Amino acid sequence: MQHLIRELLAELGEDPGREGLQFLTSGYQADVNAVLHGAVVPATDREIVIIKDVNFYSLCEHHLLPFFGRCHVAYIPTTTAIRPSAIARLVDLFSRRLQVQERLTSQIADVIRDALTPIGVAVVMEATHLCLSMRGVEKQNSLAVTSAMLGAFREDARARTHLLERLTLRADMTGARGVPNRTCSA
Ligand code: ZN
Repeated sequence: MQHLIRELLAELGEDPGREGLQFLTSGYQADVNAVLHGAVVPATDREIVIIKDVNFYSLCEHHLLPFFGRCHVAYIPTTTAIRPSAIARLVDLFSRRLQVQERLTSQIADVIRDALTPIGVAVVMEATHLCLSMRGVEKQNSLAVTSAMLGAFREDARARTHLLERLTLRADMTGARGVPNRTCSA
């Protein structure tokens, strides 16, 4: 995919290596371990940790148009926690790639699960897709919401509902009840 985009840009007379374009896909080069290094710290208790409203900007791989919005991350620690600044950097790292929102959401959840082995981790992303806006789709409900629920948040409906309440999101908005998400890939 990356190779094709490079060719496409060159064909359009662009320099694929120019600085203004590079940051859009800089997430391919960035190193997850470098972000995590020093950012994983001992947990003080097993209370739920919520990091709300991390802004993100990504590019949809179907239409090469931006989608952007807010990411919310929650986890229940076992013995380790992660600095909130590192969460924001992880969100950036995975956003700066050609993405689909569902995969982006899962990738963030997976890396936190692997780094912390928490009791549960949840990632919810609310986004505006320019490819949907430009086609006049989703005029009424323009936010595409995706979620990745792992561990306790997947297994325990009460934990999930409690979290969504704290995020002031309805469960039926997030696909958590099997309602399909409406992103540009759907
Ligand atoms: Zn799209």
